[in-house]
Amino acid sequence: MILSRLTLANVRNYAALEFVPVPGLNVLIGANAQGKSNLLEAIGLLGTGKSYRTSRESEIVSAGLPAATVSGDALVKPGPIRLSCTIALGTAGTRKRYTINGAGVRYATYLGKLRVVTFVPAHLHLVTGPPALRRSLVNAALSQESAVYYAALAAYGKQLAQKNALLRGMVAADQTLLATYNERLIESGTELILARRSFVAELDARARAIHHGWVGDVEGALVLQYAANVPVEVPTRDGIASAFAARLQEYRAAELLRKTSLVGPHRDDLEFRLGGASLAAFGSQGQQRAAVLALKVAEYETLFAYGGEAPILLLDDVLSELDRGRRAAFLRGVAGVEQAFVTTTSEVDATAAATYHVAAARLERVA
Ligand code: ATP
Ligand code: MG
Repeated sequence: MILSRLTLANVRNYAALEFVPVPGLNVLIGANAQGKSNLLEAIGLLGTGKSYRTSRESEIVSAGLPAATVSGDALVKPGPIRLSCTIALGTAGTRKRYTINGAGVRYATYLGKLRVVTFVPAHLHLVTGPPALRRSLVNAALSQESAVYYAALAAYGKQLAQKNALLRGMVAADQTLLATYNERLIESGTELILARRSFVAELDARARAIHHGWVGDVEGALVLQYAANVPVEVPTRDGIASAFAARLQEYRAAELLRKTSLVGPHRDDLEFRLGGASLAAFGSQGQQRAAVLALKVAEYETLFAYGGEAPILLLDDVLSELDRGRRAAFLRGVAGVEQAFVTTTSEVDATAAATYHVAAARLERVA
């Protein structure tokens, strides 16, 4: 897919911007605080309807103004598409509106039309950071890829909140209601577990091959493992559902005692191993970084394979984290993608399709 035009209105430091990117590698060069990350965040927002940078989306609206809009034209497999996402501040909170080709749509309909894979410095903590970071990578990728997954995820989140409210209650939890919540959690949670199993298997195979291509055999193989909270022996839909039910039964007393949900895919994790050892516990920083890079490339490839077309790649400020050799190798790798956006504070020796200077929320194409 190709983003062919991007329009910003009152988005962070952009009062108004018209940007016509090109296919291939778009390099954005600029000093600190000029609007490079804001621009990439806006492309991500256009694609996923959410910011990958903040959960307080009111921050995206330019200071002192009531609303921000990102809109754009893209070329996707079914044809050209026009998307827009508006964030409006109101007395009752922040509201978002989405349109496709001018018509208002629900978020679930909007999501996945323009798919993006992002790589930002925060991802460098993927190996050592909290499990929530790894879950959100998987959720963001699968939600863009599959409407069924997104629906299951949204349902699961709602049901989990209801169940936790019940468990937290002052009086003894209503057992019938608890059983009902558990049944619903099994239904939506089974979808999540199923999709995550095959997605992580796909990531694992690809990341291992990519990593091997870079590092060879010396450090041993990179292994990515789905550390599911619910242990599953028979990985079919029924097998997962009954394993989930059994686990809930086993932890029933503990959940009532602890007043929170202890069982289910909201407690899933991903594990990285290198040469058999835990990368989080024993890996050097360089080894952890290489694993994250391999994972990100694998995520890109997997979404490409799943959707049958290339997602847009957003790389914010990750080059500065790499040494020269790795930077060159990485840029050679992304030079061939259908469309990528890379930000940097200094000139890069890359074969860019277009280079822009970003200064005070203005873009100027320089090559
Ligand atoms: P760096 O190289 O340091 O990462 P950058 O070019 O990526 O810089 P951005 O993160 O895009 O910089 O931020 C550019 C400017 O936008 C900052 O000065 C920031 O204060 C400003 N900014 C952020 N949010 C808003 C907002 N809601 N309204 C107005 N300005 C904002
Ligand atoms: Mg930045």
